[in-house]
Amino acid sequence: CGIVGYIGTQAATEILLSGLEKLEYRGYDSAGIATIWEGEVNCVRAKGKLHNLRSKLEQLENPAQIGIGHTRWATHGKPEEYNAHPHLDTALRIAVVQNGIVENYRELREDLKQKGHQFRSETDTEVIPHLIAELLKNPDLNFLDAVRQAANQLEGGFAIAVISADYPDELIVVRQQAPLVIGFGQGEFFCASDTPAIVAYTRAVLPLENGEIARLTPLGVEIYNFAGERLKKQPRMLNLSP
Ligand code: GLU
Repeated sequence: CGIVGYIGTQAATEILLSGLEKLEYRGYDSAGIATIWEGEVNCVRAKGKLHNLRSKLEQLENPAQIGIGHTRWATHGKPEEYNAHPHLDTALRIAVVQNGIVENYRELREDLKQKGHQFRSETDTEVIPHLIAELLKNPDLNFLDAVRQAANQLEGGFAIAVISADYPDELIVVRQQAPLVIGFGQGEFFCASDTPAIVAYTRAVLPLENGEIARLTPLGVEIYNFAGERLKKQPRMLNLSP
């Protein structure tokens, strides 16, 4: 029910956890984060309150500078750890968090299963990393193209954040009928379901509109529509004084 993401020069885990704490008001039954470290996706999830996730993470030394986090309010699949986000593709290279519902997940899942993808959860969300992995079999598509083409196939209302161990300098986010804001720092960028998750780090924000995709790298942010056309957009400054 809440999403956060970070790419930049600081250790991501604490930034993601503190962002998720600021989104607690949205309600949740489980939580998780995925980072990319030493060429691999590192995914940690826990049922229940955020301190369960935090204590699991405290046992790990993880200086990763890119990651995504999620608090889940179960809609499809029991509130168990195996249904908690992030969800990964079969090869464990791509991690996805989703806020919302993928309405056509049954058809997509059947199709992807027939193509050999192995599902590990009961959620609607898990079709997304498998679909992106399937699209990336086409050598002409880059990570952004694959996420965009996947988003075009999803029906429903959702916000998504995606990272891949094969593209360790990119965080891709999609907005379609669920809120998502991007935060602009210096050499670091954030995304979140709502601004309280990122105001401790930056006040320069850009709320995405429906049908928009953004690629965040340590060098900047590019915004596109679902057709792949680049859009010109600037962040605005949040004025938090009364
Ligand atoms: N529909 C997704 C699930 O049940 C996401 C729910 C949410 O927004 O937290 O896993």
